[in-house]
Amino acid sequence: MSLVPTRIQLNRPLPPLTYLAPEGLPAGVRVRVKVRNSLAVGLAMGPDPAPPAAKLRPIEAVLDPFPLLPPKLRELQAFAARYYGCLEAHLLPLSLPQALLPHWEADEDGQRLSFHRERGAWGVLADLGEAWHRDPSLLPTLLHRPLLRGAGFTEVRLTGAPHPPRVTPSQAKVLLALEDGGGAMMEPELLEAAGVGASVLGTLEKRGLIERMKRVDLLGQRREAGLDRTVVLNEEQRTALEAVALGTFGVHLLHGVTGSGKTEVYLALAERVLAQGRRVLWLVPEIGLTARLLDRLEARFPGRIAVGHAGLNAGEKHGDVVRLLFNGADLFVGVRNAVLAPLRDIGLIIVDEEHEGSYKSEEHPRIHARDLAIKRAQLEGCPILLGSATPSLESWQAAQAGRYQLLQLKQRPAGITLPTVEIVDLRDAYRQLRRKVILAPPLMQALVDVLEKGEQSLLLLNRRGYENFWMCRACGKTLGCPHCAISLTYHRGDFRLRCHLCGHETVPPEACPDCGAEHLRGVGEGTEQVEEHLKQVFPSARILRLDRDTTRRRGSFEAGLLAAEAGEVDILVGTQMLAKGHTFPKLTLVGVLNADQGLKVADFRASERTFQLLTQVAGRAGRAELPGRVILQTYSPEHPAITFALAQDFEGFAASELPFREGLGYPPFTALTLYRAEADTLKEAREALEGFRQRLSVPGLRVLGPLEAPVPRVRDRWRMHLLLKGPRGALGEVLARHPLAPAGPISLDRDPIQFG
Ligand code: ADP
Ligand code: ZN
Repeated sequence: MSLVPTRIQLNRPLPPLTYLAPEGLPAGVRVRVKVRNSLAVGLAMGPDPAPPAAKLRPIEAVLDPFPLLPPKLRELQAFAARYYGCLEAHLLPLSLPQALLPHWEADEDGQRLSFHRERGAWGVLADLGEAWHRDPSLLPTLLHRPLLRGAGFTEVRLTGAPHPPRVTPSQAKVLLALEDGGGAMMEPELLEAAGVGASVLGTLEKRGLIERMKRVDLLGQRREAGLDRTVVLNEEQRTALEAVALGTFGVHLLHGVTGSGKTEVYLALAERVLAQGRRVLWLVPEIGLTARLLDRLEARFPGRIAVGHAGLNAGEKHGDVVRLLFNGADLFVGVRNAVLAPLRDIGLIIVDEEHEGSYKSEEHPRIHARDLAIKRAQLEGCPILLGSATPSLESWQAAQAGRYQLLQLKQRPAGITLPTVEIVDLRDAYRQLRRKVILAPPLMQALVDVLEKGEQSLLLLNRRGYENFWMCRACGKTLGCPHCAISLTYHRGDFRLRCHLCGHETVPPEACPDCGAEHLRGVGEGTEQVEEHLKQVFPSARILRLDRDTTRRRGSFEAGLLAAEAGEVDILVGTQMLAKGHTFPKLTLVGVLNADQGLKVADFRASERTFQLLTQVAGRAGRAELPGRVILQTYSPEHPAITFALAQDFEGFAASELPFREGLGYPPFTALTLYRAEADTLKEAREALEGFRQRLSVPGLRVLGPLEAPVPRVRDRWRMHLLLKGPRGALGEVLARHPLAPAGPISLDRDPIQFG
């Protein structure tokens, strides 16, 4: 076999290197190469048409019998690298677990390899390539591993049985960790806290010391029984289903309020695609909120599902990707990066809650999973379904213009009613009471009513902590972070002033550090204060606060949701993490304490985001037998984001908002690229962008800036922005003509959605 110069991509942010490899080696296959004196694993990327003049080394070994990255996925990566201005190497870790593509395999003396072997699952997978060469009979074992499931599925509880005189040290660790965790924890969290393997739980369970409960058991017979039933689709759902042509590319926007039956349409389509022997890629905004969906999918397509977790421990995460590689799963459910999963032969892509900001990465490479999913569908020649109750204005406009097919579900299946929405004008409340109120009288009265009926309430305030900032009444100074250009938030629970950007914290001073006056006071209530207030007003109510402060430990958010779902909570109070995707059967009142809070942000999407949030949180109120009520407290009751949320009228909102966007030349009518500069001084950051601006040679663009970023300093680094507006093609041209220095001060954000 003759050897030809071949590009080999290592899992490092560098362009490919060139080695000699057998002619015809398929791209996407892993190889082992020598880099200086170490061994590394790389991916073959095809022949190098212009190899360097230097003497080339041959590769050491071919590791896989078939490409781990299917050709269409490599095309997608090449597209994404061009579009988002990154190297393909930056995208590899989003497609393959590091276990399959380690940075280094081993030194010649085997040092690094043994380091890797220490980490159980990791080592097993790193050897996989050779394992299947050596012993093909291993394959079925790897393929048919039981489906590994993540946080939110199994809860472990202490049974309260008296401890027998003797437990092993690992058993003791579990029991102690459980006790610390309040007697009940999610399994992955518990195992992590105790630092033991899952087998210990089995033993403890047999001894009657703990019990393990699957989520479905907790949720009761009713739901469990109904999970795998195939519903008879109503007419709108059938129309939507039939409108999606399989085997050909097309973008379909499925618009329907929460509960209108969108998921049933996805399921029916997925069933057809799976029956044809093709695969389904199913994107969700957050895996933590998909427990019910996964239960539905497992019941409907048992054993065929793999899950792409973002935050689970390595073994589980890799387990499912490995199943994909070996064709051990046909339906892959995952968050953002799953759009780059090594799935072959895709027949359908679903993007649920397509408007969600979590699909856009806020770290380099700043990909947008929904947009890449559309590209992937195009490359695969398959349909893609974008679903939402509040579609992004980008997708909505594309549907209005006929580029996407609009499918709508307007009726809700029997038993589901829309909540009634009311507005409370906080200015009136202030005028009447002559003081600022957290809960205006109508909301307070509603809370009382709901408590009396034994139902549940949810209060949303998108600000954690006790007080938003501290200010000196004598001189007007606000206490800011020494490293960031924002104020510190007071957390009463641990008596700290804390920076929500960098985490800097300090014990609150008694006097103003500037003028020495002892007149510091807190301004702007946060969830912690609301919780305290509620506890005073309703001392016997069961109140649960869920925000980033109370849910730091893994699994605690899921545990909180479960408690609320099981009716163990009377009043839930929290930030927007409560707004999404969850159904609480007894929840009949939703109160938004400051509905126009998000409108004060200087961002052209502020109105859209506020409308989405309000609609979403309103959707939590009332299910089936119990009609819901939503109360929005606001200082700007006339704002369209509020009035259309009040009317629960997405189309009206879109029709009122789109002309503004068009008039101001914002997306979806133009595209944006944000160039961000970061440096030790503001001057350096500014000069970098000014230099870039002067070199710009692409016509047809509007250039704004350089301007200070809304938060001009974070972690002692100064930040400036340069915003380019124009047609997508021209913005792509800028990228091609003006590449950025890899380690330079400027970074790139195409189609930005966060401007902080
Ligand atoms: P969405 O995804 O739009 O929020 P779902 O598909 O989850 O809505 O549907 C909400 C509830 O209504 C689910 O319990 C679902 O099983 C049920 N449902 C949906 N469509 C039908 C139907 N045609 N007949 C009976 N029940 C349905
Ligand atoms: Zn800070």
